[in-house]
Amino acid sequence: MGKTIAVLPGDGIGPEVTSGAVRVLETLSQKYGHNFSFVKGNIGGSGYEAEGHPLPESTLSICKKSDAILLGAVGGPKYDTLPAHLRPEKGLLAIRKELELFANLRPVTAFDALLDASPLKRERVTDVDFIIVRELTGGLYFGEPSERRGDVAVDTLVYSEQEIERIVDKAFQLAKTRKQKVTSVDKANVLESSKLWREIVEKVAQKYPEVTLEHVLVDAAAMKLITEPASFDVIVTENMFGDILSDEASVLTGSLGMLPSASLREDKLGLYEPAHGSAPDIAGQNKANPLATIMSAALLLRNSFDLHEEASVIERAVTDTLNSGYHTADLSVNGSNAKRVGTQEMVDQVIKHMA
Ligand code: ATP
Ligand code: MG
Repeated sequence: MGKTIAVLPGDGIGPEVTSGAVRVLETLSQKYGHNFSFVKGNIGGSGYEAEGHPLPESTLSICKKSDAILLGAVGGPKYDTLPAHLRPEKGLLAIRKELELFANLRPVTAFDALLDASPLKRERVTDVDFIIVRELTGGLYFGEPSERRGDVAVDTLVYSEQEIERIVDKAFQLAKTRKQKVTSVDKANVLESSKLWREIVEKVAQKYPEVTLEHVLVDAAAMKLITEPASFDVIVTENMFGDILSDEASVLTGSLGMLPSASLREDKLGLYEPAHGSAPDIAGQNKANPLATIMSAALLLRNSFDLHEEASVIERAVTDTLNSGYHTADLSVNGSNAKRVGTQEMVDQVIKHMA
């Protein structure tokens, strides 16, 4: 199949990790006879340096013409003195908003080879495999008014039925392809917006009788992520709850370098990026862990192209590479077969394990 992927390397380790993921995608493209083409665009600090803006028009236009977007990371101390509207992070916020990417997916998966890197006991994180589906373009972070009035400050938490329905539907669709369970997180005992949320969740659930639904209050969910993380499959929640819970969840499996993410909308276009930042402290040193970006490429194949087998090939290769002892410096792996390698060698190993 002929597909175009926009590649936005960005700043810091972004170029190193995206080039690794592109190598993986190129290998798969050849192996399966797909015809992927890659078009590069600038974003973030490098967008500002090359074209005077963190999200240049040319980049936006490349993205709109593509079938999926692979992004590295943006930001770095180099850009700290830029005026607010030209900061690298603005490029990222702008692209999500411009493309209306309302659903943020964060898979959290425990790898056997990394169980001892978790702050939780091995037994507790074994079998952890869930996805947080966070609403990304509504709620408290966008509601108006949001202002200071003398000695009082106000923020507004607004959701429409339609905004809730589209994100909840995404979550149920996803659950259908997984362990068939949705956990909806809200604060329906207190918040009006959560009462509406729960109502819409109940309504959407009727379309998916094969999926088990549970409602959990956000405070209880925060506890359950620590006490029973393996009990979840798909967690769906509004913007702020999702922001907080996804950071909490990100530490369960032990390394920021292992967490992919997807930002989706109603059609098949999606933006895929590692959950980590630009890591300026290790940029350009062949030290960055490329696996979060490589697994983001797997999410791309699954969600934007419906290439499930190809996505699984990548995911299995990542698991096998780790099981063979290969790891980058951010991963604490002991054992007799442990082999510490750099970014490029790690990519080489994943490609080798795909064969
Ligand atoms: P941002 O604000 O963009 O999220 P941040 O300041 O939160 O950035 P990161 O850039 O993600 O942080 O880096 C946090 C720490 O994790 C740094 O020490 C960085 O080197 C390390 N780190 C992040 N990503 C990776 C990676 N892929 N491989 C190895 N180490 C990483
Ligand atoms: Mg951060």
